[in-house]
Amino acid sequence: MILKEDLKRLGSLNFSPFFITSLYLNISPLEYPKGEYRLIWKNFQREITNFFVENREVKKSILDDAERISTFLDREINISANTLVIFSCSAKNWFEVYPLYPSLKSKLVIEKDPHTKPLIRLVASQNPYLIILLSKDKARIFNYHLGVLKEEGEVKSEVPKKHKQGGWEASDWQRWHETHVIWHLKDVIEYIKKFDGERNIIIGGNLQSISEFKELLPKSLQEKIIGNFNFDVTPPIKELLDKVEKFIYEYEKKNVEELVERIFTNTKKGKDSTYGLEEVAFTLHEDRIQTLVVTENFEKEGFQCPKCLYISPYLENCPFCNIEMEKRNDIVDEIIEEAINKKAKLVFIKDSNLGGKIENIGAILRF
Ligand SMILES: [Zn+2]
Repeated sequence: MILKEDLKRLGSLNFSPFFITSLYLNISPLEYPKGEYRLIWKNFQREITNFFVENREVKKSILDDAERISTFLDREINISANTLVIFSCSAKNWFEVYPLYPSLKSKLVIEKDPHTKPLIRLVASQNPYLIILLSKDKARIFNYHLGVLKEEGEVKSEVPKKHKQGGWEASDWQRWHETHVIWHLKDVIEYIKKFDGERNIIIGGNLQSISEFKELLPKSLQEKIIGNFNFDVTPPIKELLDKVEKFIYEYEKKNVEELVERIFTNTKKGKDSTYGLEEVAFTLHEDRIQTLVVTENFEKEGFQCPKCLYISPYLENCPFCNIEMEKRNDIVDEIIEEAINKKAKLVFIKDSNLGGKIENIGAILRF
């Protein structure tokens, strides 16, 4: 599991003059049922051996990284993950491993800094979700992010039973019971307020509790609810994970379709959206992108201004600085990087037919 804090810390690491070996190894059992990823690692090892550095100690550190990674892969490969991300700088005795559920492309990078770009993209494009399993006297709260479901805590309340007891009228008992249920639901709301408001919320439980709960929620949290399902409050965790993953998969698929449709329609109306490389690059330069939507693996050559970072598919001179632009192998990559730096949300389109509708890149604008 990788967190924003890890990325921040990794981003500030530098062991100069030594290099950091960054390895992304896809070990997905679906793609490599017989452990074929070992061949990929063998090829990377050759690259490491051939990597040229003049300083012998620096070179030794890199070769030691390869040794250490090999030993790790031989020993620890029963980790349940689809991608292993390993960073190493042997001269500083620094070695970190992040097993991840999402499938990333295998890649080896040897540089002064840890290569975190794929991780930054992953974290920027995948929202965390809060799952609340709710009953009249109990709630369990889970966090789902990057394929991992983690229980964050629970809220339990004493709620008197509905049945009639000494002296009281049945209707009084009923009211007494309901008051306690409401107190319980309010406790749950207090509890979930401690999570940041960026998370989408999914509620599981019986339908009556869910609708009462929704009514009590402040509007800002109500808006975060993306759906609910009927579910027991004490499910086997594997069953819950399956259900949550299916739910999120359908939600995200629908969400991307709606985003593309919105961008397509609103661009035609000249309202809050745009699409196409040139237009998106222009609005990015104006810092107007709220959400960048791009087809996965979409690439294009082009130019970028070294001074103001303006990106264009064809302009060789920067219209803002009036200086020569530099050639880039992939300006889509540069746009994504810039957009993340400018705190835009990032959404990948997996279906290239769908992406074609907005020329594979589009944006919802801030103003
Ligand atoms: Zn410029």
